[in-house]
Amino acid sequence: MNNANDIPTAALEAFKESLSPQAKVITRADPGYQESIVRWADNAIKPAGLVVQVASAQDVSETVRFLTWFPVQLFISYLSIERENVGDVYSSSHTILNFTFQIKFAVARHIPLVVKCGGHSTNGHSSTNGGIVIDLHQLRDVAVDAERKLIVSGGGALWRDVDVAAAEKGLATVGGTVNHTGVGGLTLGGGYGFLSGQHGLTIDNLVEAEIVLADGSIHTIDENRMPDLFWAIRGAGNKFGCVTKVRLLAGRAVFTYKAHDIPDKVWGGMLVYPPNQLNALVEASEELVQKGHSKSACLLAIARGPDGNPVIIIVPFYQGPESEAQAVFSGFLSLPYVVSTVQMRPYSDMNGLSNDAAPFGGRKMFTDANIHHMRPATFREAFNSFVQFTGPATEGSVPGTSKSSIFVLAVPTAAIEARPKDSTAFAFRDPLIDVTIMSTWEDPKNDPKDDAKVSEWARSLQKIFLKDGNPNRMYYNHSDGSEDSVKEVGSNYERLRELKAKYDPHDVFRSL
Ligand SMILES: Cc1cc2nc3c(=O)[nH]c(=O)nc-3n(C[C@H](O)[C@H](O)[C@H](O)COP(=O)(O)OP(=O)(O)OC[C@H]3O[C@@H](n4cnc5c(N)ncnc54)[C@H](O)[C@@H]3O)c2cc1C
Repeated sequence: MNNANDIPTAALEAFKESLSPQAKVITRADPGYQESIVRWADNAIKPAGLVVQVASAQDVSETVRFLTWFPVQLFISYLSIERENVGDVYSSSHTILNFTFQIKFAVARHIPLVVKCGGHSTNGHSSTNGGIVIDLHQLRDVAVDAERKLIVSGGGALWRDVDVAAAEKGLATVGGTVNHTGVGGLTLGGGYGFLSGQHGLTIDNLVEAEIVLADGSIHTIDENRMPDLFWAIRGAGNKFGCVTKVRLLAGRAVFTYKAHDIPDKVWGGMLVYPPNQLNALVEASEELVQKGHSKSACLLAIARGPDGNPVIIIVPFYQGPESEAQAVFSGFLSLPYVVSTVQMRPYSDMNGLSNDAAPFGGRKMFTDANIHHMRPATFREAFNSFVQFTGPATEGSVPGTSKSSIFVLAVPTAAIEARPKDSTAFAFRDPLIDVTIMSTWEDPKNDPKDDAKVSEWARSLQKIFLKDGNPNRMYYNHSDGSEDSVKEVGSNYERLRELKAKYDPHDVFRSL
């Protein structure tokens, strides 16, 4: 059995009984089902067999146990009926052999299981055709310990939840630059943010996590407790378990991060430039990275404005007073922009600035390229391709592509490089800049008919950027899912395979 729709009613009822009263189990026949399978990208929506909206780590554990042992339980009932009916010695030993085989078979061919946090992966890794979704959205509480400078966050929280709660205590950690993304997926894949110049990746700030493993056991892990697993989840986390934790308040917390003092206000906003400034902006961004001001970062995006015309958007960030920021960003500010919303503002606002450029809905695909340098000629070639592909629909073109964008988080990499490559599962601690190609297109029927064309375009852009980059590296969180796992974890692949065999030998969670 590999479809959750086939689970008999009695077994389903028993499973529901095993969960906490706040947990909700949604089948295809239940109201709210369609809502429960919505994802950021329409193409990542899949018809789950069962959505389990857990309210505690124990609920996650019950779900994992149910899914791996339910087929075995079914077989045991079948077995007892057979034995009653036949009962001779040959048949019993044959049945025992068969039983052993069936247990192995059941565990190896379990109903597919996925974990969903913010639901932003465009590769569909948090949704399933017919399997079970562990939906963590009820685990969104965030507790901040100002004295110990720790943030404890639910495994289903969004970055907005963390940024706002931490800011109330004058603290922050490295989170995503669009704050409706999930804490879960972004953290477990590495995590880049505006604070990366100073504090590295999100995983470099992770000090403790609670995880439910494939056998349903719940563990709190850190550098001292199950250090090999803690190593693995920092970069390849979604392949080892479901990260969730009961702490202080029942069923609430998951990730514990180091928090850092953040000024009441940081300098940032949005600057919009005409396309003829692209070369100068690319040069200024490259200079910003090379100069290595650890308190600075800047997002450069090639996009289309509300009127449909191509524009270059810069989201500058500086953790310090305006006068310093203006000096650091003088290369940008001296260029003729057409819109500026730059001002001193709370840090928790920064990660909301790009939300409107990345709304839910439409078909979407992420592709990624890691480059050594930002070269104007490369970006100009990519820009020309972008303008052509996202322009008004013509015969044979893909309609509704105008919300696509190419964006780069230009951030000094010294803090990321400061740790050895084998210190966490995330191996790519090089002076690399991550370029993301976000293809978005409209299809009222959510039909995959144009996927191949979009993919071909995204790949052609990737090729353009990789002339200046590392073709053997792919940031997992920006992958379309078609890349080799080795590209996602690099030199740590073999060690991760050993740990996968130790902690999740039957691929209950994502395979490596
Ligand atoms: C608009 C936008 C902006 C982005 N900006 C950034 C950025 O600034 N920096 C950056 O580094 N990345 C960024 N990303 C990429 C982002 O990190 C990934 O899309 C990430 O997968 C989002 O996590 P999620 O929880 O929302 O996604 P989901 O689709 O819910 O999960 C992604 C993967 O993680 C697994 N997972 C999620 N939570 C858990 C958990 N608690 N335990 C175990 N497995 C779990 C899921 O099963 C799935 O495999 C951005 C993405 C988008 C769409």
